[in-house]
Amino acid sequence: MSEPFLPYGRQSVGGDDLAAVAEVLRGDWLTTGPAVQRFEADLAEHTGGTPAVAVTSGTAALHVAYAAAGVGPGDEVVTSPMTFVATASAAALHGAKVVFADVEPDTGNLDPHAASAAVTSRTKVIAAVDYAGHPAELDELRTVADSAGALLLEDAAHSIGGSWRGRPIGSLADLTTFSFFATKNLTTAEGGAVVSASEQLLERARAFRNHGLVRDRAAQRYPDEGGWHQEVHAFGLNYRLPDVLCALGSSQLRRLAEFKRRRAAIHTRYDKAFADLDGVRTPVTREGADPMWHLYPLRVLGGRRRALFDHLRGHGIGVQVNYIPVYWHPVFEDLGYRRGLCPNAERFYSEQLSLPLFPDLTESDVDRVITSVRSFFGG
Ligand SMILES: *Cc1c(COP(=O)(O)O)cnc(C)c1O
Repeated sequence: MSEPFLPYGRQSVGGDDLAAVAEVLRGDWLTTGPAVQRFEADLAEHTGGTPAVAVTSGTAALHVAYAAAGVGPGDEVVTSPMTFVATASAAALHGAKVVFADVEPDTGNLDPHAASAAVTSRTKVIAAVDYAGHPAELDELRTVADSAGALLLEDAAHSIGGSWRGRPIGSLADLTTFSFFATKNLTTAEGGAVVSASEQLLERARAFRNHGLVRDRAAQRYPDEGGWHQEVHAFGLNYRLPDVLCALGSSQLRRLAEFKRRRAAIHTRYDKAFADLDGVRTPVTREGADPMWHLYPLRVLGGRRRALFDHLRGHGIGVQVNYIPVYWHPVFEDLGYRRGLCPNAERFYSEQLSLPLFPDLTESDVDRVITSVRSFFGG
């Protein structure tokens, strides 16, 4: 009998999570109710107190964050190609030009020198990604952003709960975005958030999340229209995360520290198990980084990544590759982006393989992954 399929990531939903959701479903507010503010306040406890705006996905969070930053046609956004496509596409959908800068060969995170070289007078945002949960070089990137007159955005879809030089993720960039997709560090099924210390950026984020509707009479152009009146000053969308999902998020946040410990323990087991294998390189942790390990990005040397991927998939182990360089997507190719643009990212991609990593992975699941990887290399 073959063993069950092990995914590379999976949610951990417990009895408290179910009870929290059921309670909201029995109540008055399925959406736009008190569980939203509660979730936003709970999130701020994990961002060093930086306020949060809950939205419907990590992609929505990026779309909202770029809107809050005022990104539009004629603007440029400098970002990493070693990310999910949404980091770039959400800026492109606002009409901005995406400028890809290369990554550091060890972490896969945006290289501050490459970002600095990519900056022009049109750069509105520098968008870093905490790849696999390892924080980007946020202090150097801050310097690059400040000297360019650009905002620093951190796509922290992988890294909520981590910290950089003692400061929690969410307290470092002008705008930080989270994803609560099922495979991420905590889940609301679909969901996300934008975090910022700037009241102005938060206001713009809240407005874009809710059609740009202005309800505050003092801010309205036609305040005497009547008690029902609300008006739109700038276009927005409906990116409201419902109370049902916010309640799940608050419940999940209570387990974030436990999730982090378990992810770190599995990460350490993989590190030790593969330390003596010549055919692979294990992930690095830079000085000052306290990662929330969302992925375990093994590097497979000697052009054998695809063979190991097929070997593990053949044994029911759901490895994944994160990510193809974003500008390889045909939509960017058709805009004129060419392969070879970011050699470090392309090399990183050619070697990268994400092993299963999620809190409910058992010790025997981990043993199975280790045995299968080692058997591929003959021991
Ligand atoms: C998951 C992810 C997103 C998008 O989040 P969704 O919630 O799936 O829309 C954006 N950026 C990165 C780096 C991600 O991993």
